[in-house]
Amino acid sequence: MRNTMIAGNWKMNKTYGEAAELAQGLVRELPGSTGNVDVVVCPPTIDLKAVAATLEQSDSSIALGAQNVYWEENGAFTGETAPNMLVSLGATYCIIGHSERRGYFGETDEDINKKAKALLAHNIVPISCCGESLEVREAGKHVEFVVEQIKADTKGLTLTSPSQYVVAYEPIWAIGTGKTATAEDAQEVCSAIRATLRDIFGAELANGIRVLYGGSAKPENIAGFLAEEDVDGALVGGASLKADSFAAMVKAAM
Ligand code: PEP
Repeated sequence: MRNTMIAGNWKMNKTYGEAAELAQGLVRELPGSTGNVDVVVCPPTIDLKAVAATLEQSDSSIALGAQNVYWEENGAFTGETAPNMLVSLGATYCIIGHSERRGYFGETDEDINKKAKALLAHNIVPISCCGESLEVREAGKHVEFVVEQIKADTKGLTLTSPSQYVVAYEPIWAIGTGKTATAEDAQEVCSAIRATLRDIFGAELANGIRVLYGGSAKPENIAGFLAEEDVDGALVGGASLKADSFAAMVKAAM
């Protein structure tokens, strides 16, 4: 049985003080254990420390994630963040391959694969994003497109436990647009992702890897996605920026 995961991607929102405030709101809304739901928040890198401090001082079980990482250990890579720097701030998850990083910053599947390997070497769980554009979807090529992304992003990865890796299926046309994929759309691609993960890692591991849906997920529609067999949770952008709406999604999953 896979635990559900609800992960919040705060993107480039919240100053240091605002991030601390949002984290305080979340620990008030979600005290103690969240049972069968793993909750992760991914603030901007500059805010990780503020959020880590709030989480540490609470009894909450919310985990901390980053939104990006560089694959080198250290050195002359101005502006980048190494995996051990994330570890030192308490991050245990990191989003990679988000469509905004692929689209605006030119990240390739090869980069994403290097990031996944670097994170795994530091025991940080990648939340690896994939998803097609509207053009690809309208051409009916979305399943094969996403399957190719998964194959490239996982090339040469070795996992010893399913909890070491998370996939987020985020159709680009549904991100931040208010247009949601239907639960059936999500299931179609998430089940193809799981079949691909089975080919790559074997059934035992792949059956335990969480595959999330992302794209305008909110309290009103989360239950429909979670009811699908291969959708194990959500990566949430806009609706993760308010403690009450994010907590409502977690509670809907509990
Ligand atoms: C995201 O960017 O990961 C995302 C899913 O955003 P939104 O929920 O705002 O569509």
